[in-house]
Amino acid sequence: MKKELYLYNTATMRKEKFAPLREQAGMYCCGPTVYNYAHIGNLRTYIFEDVLKRTLIACGYDVKHVVNITDVGHLVSDADTGEDKMETGAAREGKSVWDIAEFYTKKFMADISSLNILQPDVWPKATDYIAQMIDIVKSLEEKGFTYTTGDGIYFDTAKFPQYCDFARIDPETLRAGERVDMGDKRNVTDFALWKFSPKDAKRQMEWDSPWGVGFPGWHIECSAMSLAHLPQPLDIHCGGMDHIRVHHTNEIAQTEAATGEKFANFWLHGEFLVLDKGKMAKSGGNFVTLDTLRDKGVSPLGYRMFCYTAHYRSPLTFSFEGAASAEHGLLNLRKIVSSLNKSGGTAVNAGNVNQPLKSFTDALCDDLNMPRAMAAVWEGLRSDKLTDGEKLAFVTEADKVLGLDLFAPAGNNRTEITEESEGYRIFLSINGELSPSLKAAIVSKAVLRKKSRAAKDFKTADLIRGQFAAAGIAVKDLPGGVTECVVDDPGRAEGAL
Ligand code: AMP
Ligand code: ZN
Repeated sequence: MKKELYLYNTATMRKEKFAPLREQAGMYCCGPTVYNYAHIGNLRTYIFEDVLKRTLIACGYDVKHVVNITDVGHLVSDADTGEDKMETGAAREGKSVWDIAEFYTKKFMADISSLNILQPDVWPKATDYIAQMIDIVKSLEEKGFTYTTGDGIYFDTAKFPQYCDFARIDPETLRAGERVDMGDKRNVTDFALWKFSPKDAKRQMEWDSPWGVGFPGWHIECSAMSLAHLPQPLDIHCGGMDHIRVHHTNEIAQTEAATGEKFANFWLHGEFLVLDKGKMAKSGGNFVTLDTLRDKGVSPLGYRMFCYTAHYRSPLTFSFEGAASAEHGLLNLRKIVSSLNKSGGTAVNAGNVNQPLKSFTDALCDDLNMPRAMAAVWEGLRSDKLTDGEKLAFVTEADKVLGLDLFAPAGNNRTEITEESEGYRIFLSINGELSPSLKAAIVSKAVLRKKSRAAKDFKTADLIRGQFAAAGIAVKDLPGGVTECVVDDPGRAEGAL
């Protein structure tokens, strides 16, 4: 039996009872543009989406989850002008666009895993779906929705009369916008489906198309990648609330114009994480990452817990004090859980477990009310009506949605292994798990450091020690020529060596 779940749907502006259209619920989340680190504001949105997915699963639904990686075509301005963010990132770091994409994709995935966010079933990346994007633009062209300007193929929003409906756009405000320079666009809301490469400069990422060499518009990417992996209409489409007005409005227009079918049934949007000074943005340099938090003693799961202090549709003001207090709360929860008698000797009455579990699930099923769900967790753990065994049974279920690793002893989950390479022995002490590529990178750097020291090349040896330090890895020489590498946070080290 499935539990009744109510979710706020941006499309109808109401809480509605969720019902998937097929056996398996299809969920698409707009993913990162991989030109820089994800800031903790971005990560708040992925945490909310993870809670949604875990709640769907806890309610008995089978979910197929798709999160895209945008590695081309997201321009600095939403008005389809300015540089491609990826090319800007590459120029900033003196690397190729492809290298930038690979580096920040890896970093993003490491953040996701540090935050206990469940892996999506598919991570499509935009540059692998250019043919599908071109097909959608061709079909829009055949149906008369497009026109060509000097710099690309545009969607004519005047041909899609429902354009303003989703975001409740007031046409009056659009008229004011028309006075702003629109280039060759016919309507202020028209957007690029395909952009031509500049005539005087070569782009690193560009493709042939029926309209000439160029690259896709950002919005078309999500239409192509979602429809490549999920049946239409999608059950749920999510993102941050900044996407409502332009990105999702444009995704709806182009998809529904091309296919003649409704694009998505439920639209869920997460509110922003804000700083006292205002919005946290990748472009302003004014951003805090998970590494910044780690340096201040706040773990990724402490931040996850901080996000639970507000409903996902309310803005959350970030402060280091607030995050530190959430970290403290998380450690307290873990202490309480570890103090419960796990010997199995205490009685478990399912009816008793159901009481706190019902309050917890009712809060989740009421549009993912996490502050209420957390109150139910504290209440359940403090209750004098439950045995230790019942509390443990309750917390086991609750943590399937919370994803807070409540059974971790003081957050420590160390593995210790010894690796041999080129006659050197490297002892690795890891808090969690290492990816095979990170393990290989650590071992080869540790060996290189040993060799450099043997050759009295202390400059290289120091350089490597610095690289280890920047990745949060402590290196020590143990007796017998063994090198010890202590990796307290594999997520931080990922991609840093
Ligand atoms: P981007 O990588 O910029 O495309 O953004 C990735 C996701 O983060 C999108 O769903 C955005 O809507 C969301 N987002 C951007 N800034 C914030 C913020 N300050 N707080 C919460 N979510 C955000
Ligand atoms: Zn998108």
